[in-house]
Amino acid sequence: MAYSANLGSYGQLAIANREEQTQINLSMSIPGQQQSQSSSFSTGKWLSKPKLFQLKQGFVLAINTTQNSHYILIQQNSISTIESPPELNRYPQIDLTAIAQESNFAPMQPMQPMQPLRMGNMSMQMGNMSMSLNNQSKTSISKQFCSQCGKEAQLGDRFCRSCGHELNN
Ligand SMILES: [Zn+2]
Repeated sequence: MAYSANLGSYGQLAIANREEQTQINLSMSIPGQQQSQSSSFSTGKWLSKPKLFQLKQGFVLAINTTQNSHYILIQQNSISTIESPPELNRYPQIDLTAIAQESNFAPMQPMQPMQPLRMGNMSMQMGNMSMSLNNQSKTSISKQFCSQCGKEAQLGDRFCRSCGHELNN
């Protein structure tokens, strides 16, 4: 199953269900420029035609699959799943047109296996970054380390107790 919809300034949306994956491709043609982003989500097989809603901050795709109900938020620079959608019935629904799956997704094929992996790495990196930030803010308050040998210095030390290097504090 594959569908397409025109999202105005967002570009042309194409969605497809391949195996357990929902593939989403958003492409925009600006004069002299072709922009496209695609994402793939592990949703399970679609049970019915997905529904597309237009919200203030973007579009939400509601998918009913063998696994669960999935909601995917489509914004101009990001496509992401969301846990609990707003009251979608309050928003206008956009027509999805059935398309031939191969025509829209075949050229993107070589890139698609990378997408879920790359997104996984990004979120892991973000997790590490926030962790190390927390550590840094803690250590800068209570602890100091020698820039020469890395030994921990006591609060108020002017010189490293290990190597004698002058501590800048
Ligand atoms: Zn030292």
